Amino acid sequence: MKIEKYSIGIGDRFGHQGVAQLSAFVKAREHGVDIVPVWNKSNREHTLIGTQPGNTRIEADEAAATLGWKASYYVDADHIGIKTVDPFIGPSNYFTLDVADFIGEEPALDDLADFTKYCSKFIGTLSIPGIKHGLDVTMETVVSVGKKYLNAVKEAGKIYRYIASRKGKENFITEVSTDETNTPQTPVELFFVLAALSREQVPLQTVAPKFTGQFLKGVDYVGDVAQFAREFEHDVAVIAHAIKEFGLPETLKISIHSGSDKFSIYPVINKTIKKFDAGLHLKTAGTTWLEEVIGLAKSGGDGLVVAKEIYAQSYLRFDELAKPYLTVIDIPMEKLPTPAVVNKWRSADFVLALQHDPMCPQYSTAFRQLVHIGFKVAAEMGDRFTDLLDESAGIINNGVTENIYERHLRPIFLGND
Ligand SMILES: [Zn+2]
Repeated sequence: MKIEKYSIGIGDRFGHQGVAQLSAFVKAREHGVDIVPVWNKSNREHTLIGTQPGNTRIEADEAAATLGWKASYYVDADHIGIKTVDPFIGPSNYFTLDVADFIGEEPALDDLADFTKYCSKFIGTLSIPGIKHGLDVTMETVVSVGKKYLNAVKEAGKIYRYIASRKGKENFITEVSTDETNTPQTPVELFFVLAALSREQVPLQTVAPKFTGQFLKGVDYVGDVAQFAREFEHDVAVIAHAIKEFGLPETLKISIHSGSDKFSIYPVINKTIKKFDAGLHLKTAGTTWLEEVIGLAKSGGDGLVVAKEIYAQSYLRFDELAKPYLTVIDIPMEKLPTPAVVNKWRSADFVLALQHDPMCPQYSTAFRQLVHIGFKVAAEMGDRFTDLLDESAGIINNGVTENIYERHLRPIFLGND
């Protein structure tokens, strides 16, 4: 199985927006860009909502059938490890092996010695097409990458072989992710991590490093855009070079996680993938749920009541809801309106605070992030919430499609001009 050049990860917490999401990809095709959808839902999300990986497969299949979608689409077992992968084996055909927890574990001395011996040929200035002055590589670089990543790579090999033995190695796409960790990886580190993955015989087709800056859930990039641009360009160049150097799959490309709403870096991403004629995978997971809340608030009546209730509960249960997301949110409590204030809001006030329009003075990143992690509250409402989704389907579907197409696919792949 070979991943297409452009793919986008879409998340759908409650499984109601399959068709609305896929419609955005249909629209992109009409504008001349082929992008394939990857339905991703992590084990964490399934657990919090109480769904099964099989539900995502059903949703994807139904959406594809409804719209007569003939191109590929995938169902991603997002951020799985050896302990969580089992229920995903049947329904998924894309596996994101999360080995971040193994970064920094000391490898066996033999493994480290083998690795440094193999990599010693790269010591000096490593010239990589597309990187002006090449990259500096010293013995220390190689040893430190080995110490930091070899065990994580070994774990990736273990998970990959387990999935391959159950599913057949031709039947799925492999991604390796190291993004949910504290320190970013440099392009040099990425190069040697790819070396190690090739030696471990993991035929990865997408790789998700941790980039410089903050990729918070549902809000714009926080960090130095120029620095990100340099790093991203180097990463893309490193991947192209590593494919040849290490015999990795031709289709190998970069994967950006928590990629929703990173408006300020989309122009950089667009420019770079065009410059290098490179592929891209970007996971947008999560903001479809925000479009649902926006749609409910827009509908007024019971929809607005429920939207306010979700906010109030999320505010009161902040610590509990924030806990699984601490590395990917930044919500200063003092910037959050109290539920008493929000309860007085009209429909438009709620929508403007939540909708990601950076130009709007009422837009609040704290408010948006809190609602983002508040889906557990909606999940607990059960039918009361999902019935309202059905009632407001028209308004919500439009928002979902427009959000994916106008705010994501278009700037990322077509450019804003
Ligand atoms: Zn991730």
